[in-house]
Amino acid sequence: MNTPSISSKLPEVGTTIFTEMSLLAQTHNAINLSQGFPDFNPPQGLIDRLSYHINQGHNQYAPMSGLPALRQQLATKLDRWYQRQVDHDQEITVVPGATAALFCAIHAVVRPGDEVIVFDPSYDSYDPAITLAGGRCVHLPLQAPNYTIDWQRTADAITSRTRLLIINSPHNPSGTVLTSEDLLTLQRLLRDTEVLVLSDEVYEHLVFDGRRHASVLQFDELFARSFAVFSFGKTYHATGWKTGYCVAPGPLMSEFRKVHQYLTFVAVTPIQCALADFMASDPHYLSELAGFYQQKRDYFCTGLAASRFGFTPAQGTFFQLADYSAISDLDERAFCHYLTTEVGVAAIPLQPFYRQPAPGSQLRFCFAKSDHTLQRALDKLCRL
Ligand code: PMP
Ligand code: GLN
Repeated sequence: MNTPSISSKLPEVGTTIFTEMSLLAQTHNAINLSQGFPDFNPPQGLIDRLSYHINQGHNQYAPMSGLPALRQQLATKLDRWYQRQVDHDQEITVVPGATAALFCAIHAVVRPGDEVIVFDPSYDSYDPAITLAGGRCVHLPLQAPNYTIDWQRTADAITSRTRLLIINSPHNPSGTVLTSEDLLTLQRLLRDTEVLVLSDEVYEHLVFDGRRHASVLQFDELFARSFAVFSFGKTYHATGWKTGYCVAPGPLMSEFRKVHQYLTFVAVTPIQCALADFMASDPHYLSELAGFYQQKRDYFCTGLAASRFGFTPAQGTFFQLADYSAISDLDERAFCHYLTTEVGVAAIPLQPFYRQPAPGSQLRFCFAKSDHTLQRALDKLCRL
């Protein structure tokens, strides 16, 4: 029997570079510094609470917007960190991962023909979600050498059709962070427009060298037009738990929930119970996270300084960009394949983060690994 032919809704989309490189690393038994995930466990106290709640029978649907106890903990946290008082009933929704939150926010507000501004290099899920909503993605480049936003160029790109603008700080893949001045500029720039903001802040706690994460939640006018997206996966070393949340003012959140309730309806119950308990019992965990990851960044960068890779230490995230032009003139994908299959270290090429790839020699390492793993990788990288 013939399968009816369909015309793809996403003809330019293939398997993600993260899946491709992790698979290649597995096949060749390479040290996997490609896809972003820790090689260590979530805190033991959190794991214990998860198994406790599963054993207690907390295994059925949670409320659609998330477990109230968890949303209350989040409201307390947002007040403490960003001085934003949110109504945990109306303005926070717990979802199965930040990717789902991004998808819900985009589908809640983008209609066919709407334009959405994204900054390249950009996370891979934005563009397909916009395309599926019928929107048109307007890709603006971040500026060399530090991947900063050109606000004048952004202002010039806003048209009567612009519905949404997506920012991501700390930024995957560059590790750059937006400053409060950046967000004030954005707030001013959007003041007389109908443009909404989707702020991907999944690496909020991974900022280094005494910097503070600047959140859209800290700015009244910006918050009034924003969806802010967070991920427990990054914060609690639990990417496989696929749990995140979105914060937005009531009218935006109510549209967000209309999509969420028909996309996944709820997030996983025992995980929410465990997170609520852990947040209540260990509020210091969050303040120690930046130091923990800064140590990893420093360990990796100190080792990498003895190699022929060029780099500027990341300001945030658990990623480090590196330039290999002194080592090879292969293109980025070919070099990452070579590095994985011949050298034994997997990394991510930068080009897939661009809509219009241009020749370059940058790759991304994930340093969310034990020092032992990092050292084994560094030994290999320093031989190149
Ligand atoms: N946004 C960015 C910038 C990310 O790096 C990730 C990590 N995968 C996500 C969103 C998605 O997070 P989650 O795994 O919670 O869906
Ligand atoms: N966010 C992770 C990264 O940037 C990957 C998540 C995924 O595989 N989709 O590496």
